[in-house]
Amino acid sequence: MHMTQLPLRAQLASALGRSAATLSRMTGRGDGSVIGGRVGLMLEPDLLRQLARDRKLALVSATNGKTTTTRLITSALLELGEVATNVFGANMPAGHVSALSQHKRAPYGVLEVDEKYLPEVLDTTGAGVVCLMNLSRDQMDRAAEIWLLAQKWRRALSGKPTHVIANCDDPLVTWGASTAAKVTWVAGGQRWKEDSWCCPECGGPLDRKDADWACRECTFHRPEPQWAVDDDAAIDPQGQRWLLDIQLPGQANRSNAVMALAVADAFGLPVEQALPRLREVTSVAGRYTTVERDGRHARLLLAKNPAGWLEAFDVADPQFPIILSVNAQGPDGRDTSWLWDVDYRILRGRPVFVTGQRRLDMALRLDVADVPFTLCGTFSEALAMQPPGRVDVIANYTAFQDIRTEFGRAV
Ligand SMILES: [Zn+2]
Repeated sequence: MHMTQLPLRAQLASALGRSAATLSRMTGRGDGSVIGGRVGLMLEPDLLRQLARDRKLALVSATNGKTTTTRLITSALLELGEVATNVFGANMPAGHVSALSQHKRAPYGVLEVDEKYLPEVLDTTGAGVVCLMNLSRDQMDRAAEIWLLAQKWRRALSGKPTHVIANCDDPLVTWGASTAAKVTWVAGGQRWKEDSWCCPECGGPLDRKDADWACRECTFHRPEPQWAVDDDAAIDPQGQRWLLDIQLPGQANRSNAVMALAVADAFGLPVEQALPRLREVTSVAGRYTTVERDGRHARLLLAKNPAGWLEAFDVADPQFPIILSVNAQGPDGRDTSWLWDVDYRILRGRPVFVTGQRRLDMALRLDVADVPFTLCGTFSEALAMQPPGRVDVIANYTAFQDIRTEFGRAV
């Protein structure tokens, strides 16, 4: 693909941003992807638009699974050529600038986008493909806010030529995507249904029968999917079954993989070429990775919100003990009341260990759910209490990053 030369000011902004990122990495202030992008945008506010021009871009947004799905799509598109991506999950415009300026000549880009920033990033980049997977309450958002978010998606997609790949098992995502000129519907499943009992169009009750759903009071209903996830297989638009056999665990990741196959298909990449690339992904920024200390093999699972906990429970193996770590710093949300939205009774009968800065909030929640547990001062202490062998760890955002750092930024 022919890439036009960036204007001089944008070239300079992009280069200075990269230097700032390198400096930030060298001085141990993180991976530098945000600071580099911020410097670039300060010098040239139009930088993201200029860096995005002439590339084939996919934007990936959802409450859960966007980092993993971004990684899966990137892995698949590498089959076509160089791909720019925000591998560190810096999912706002500064992170996108950084990702695109680090791969200046990449003809493809796969960008994870924060749900709230999707309209802005879509307007700025003019991305040809958008992948939308699920919308549910986050630690800070409630139902009314995610409805507003879906409404903003509708406005942003309306009147653009963007090809949307969307999960039609999530009514709010379906509503958010349905103003797009072209939509490929994927039956990706929906584990967390608490935020979608009402019709987003009219507020009436949604009737559900198996995977199907429809509004009782208006015409809004589940569109016919072209792609589907069926246990460990993907079903393509021709009805052909493909055994996924990916290494990432759990039903949520099988759903992410089918979304990735549908996105790859939108880029003209057939399943037989994309699928082997998805199987190469074993962990994503520390998620699903196993770290080892003194014979204890701890598998790290991230759960940032109620829907994320359900996905983590699906992956966690009931025959092993489990460590839960909860913080309440900025990115986690200071308020831990969302823990009360999660049903923890599934953990009964397993050895449960609780740590993190807000371990007492977690302890109270478990106590009310009649789940016996052991309280531990630190993660190291919790790990040391385990017999040698496997243990699952579920942590929310900053708690997860703390554990990763303890193990040398485990990938
Ligand atoms: Zn309705």
